[in-house]
Amino acid sequence: MEKTPLSLRKHIAIFGNVNSGKSTLFNALIGQDVAIVSNVKGTTTDPVTKSMELIPYGPVAVIDTAGLSDDTELGAKRIEKTKDILKRTDLIIYTKDINSDEEIIILDNNIPFIPVYTKCDTASESVIIDKKKTEPNAVFLYNADAENLEKLKLKMIEELEKLNEESETLIGDLVEKNGSVVLVIPIDSAAPKGRIILPQVQVLRDCLDHDIKAYVTKETTLKEALDDLKKVDLVVTDSQAFKLVSEIVPREIPLTSFSMLLARQKGNFNQLLDGISAVRNLKDNDTVLVLEGCTHNTTHEDIGRIKIPAGLQKKLGIKLNFEYYTAYDFPKDLSRYSLAIQCGGCMINKKEINSRLKIMKENSLSVTNYGIILAYLNGILDRASEIFGK
Ligand code: SF4
Repeated sequence: MEKTPLSLRKHIAIFGNVNSGKSTLFNALIGQDVAIVSNVKGTTTDPVTKSMELIPYGPVAVIDTAGLSDDTELGAKRIEKTKDILKRTDLIIYTKDINSDEEIIILDNNIPFIPVYTKCDTASESVIIDKKKTEPNAVFLYNADAENLEKLKLKMIEELEKLNEESETLIGDLVEKNGSVVLVIPIDSAAPKGRIILPQVQVLRDCLDHDIKAYVTKETTLKEALDDLKKVDLVVTDSQAFKLVSEIVPREIPLTSFSMLLARQKGNFNQLLDGISAVRNLKDNDTVLVLEGCTHNTTHEDIGRIKIPAGLQKKLGIKLNFEYYTAYDFPKDLSRYSLAIQCGGCMINKKEINSRLKIMKENSLSVTNYGIILAYLNGILDRASEIFGK
């Protein structure tokens, strides 16, 4: 569980006004003194994220945010940054000093939230009784005491379980139990040393979870691997090797990519597929927004910085401008883009991807992703989408 990546954890963010006890609660929840706690207003400036095991629910990430009521110029920027966290938040915990008259701010009606009254040890019993009447769902913390902290954890689990969405399998609904899948993992200069990347590990694990036999090979040994096997139900390849792999895999064997599996699991797959129609409409000098989920070294085989820009301009015979946003950065003004391309997003959570897709839809900006556009550039998008019934 310790190793569960952040991208697969539900995100719980603690919001509230300055000095309302957010960091005290954060430290108590994760059981470590990570966030600095003081009575000086605005001690938490940047969000702090920590992973924790919420037993018996499972692995989650908890975020301590800067206070919402900071009227300095720097404070306004911090609040904007704090509100950005909502894009990746699955559950809000809203702390409020029981002695304060400030109103609770409803940050997002679509995100479940738990109000938590803090510093109850400093309030009179009558104030607490009154609040309990008006806020029956709130948790009342007396200096982050263990008993009420437990009540809060139970409420968190209750809310998170309500979110438990449709099955989040990557491959388990595409291949039958006991079926056979071949995973093609090229080891080129873009491959990290000594390990395989997260989407590949996730698909492998999902095969094991669903009693699917998984065989791993490089593209250079794929033909022999297919010859060795009597029956193959699906081949999944790294998008970079799409063209070569599609030439090797007989047409009757379904083929797709890690990136397309991840896109289907994480976001609105139909919206990403539809985005390809905007690719065909791109014109000379248009600007394309590329969203990379993490910072990484750029090599000559980098998908977002080298391969897609080169392939797209070559295929369309036009010159395009590419603008890059990394990790959680996202442009405020989308009007200057003709297309957005989201990376596989293995380092960011489903909520963040879906929040972005929603904003782009509202702004009529077409979006696709790395795997889909690489399949398109290699002329095999139809084949790579067939397994999804598209
Ligand atoms: S750029 Fe995107 S797909 Fe690539 S490793 Fe980072 S998060 Fe994963």
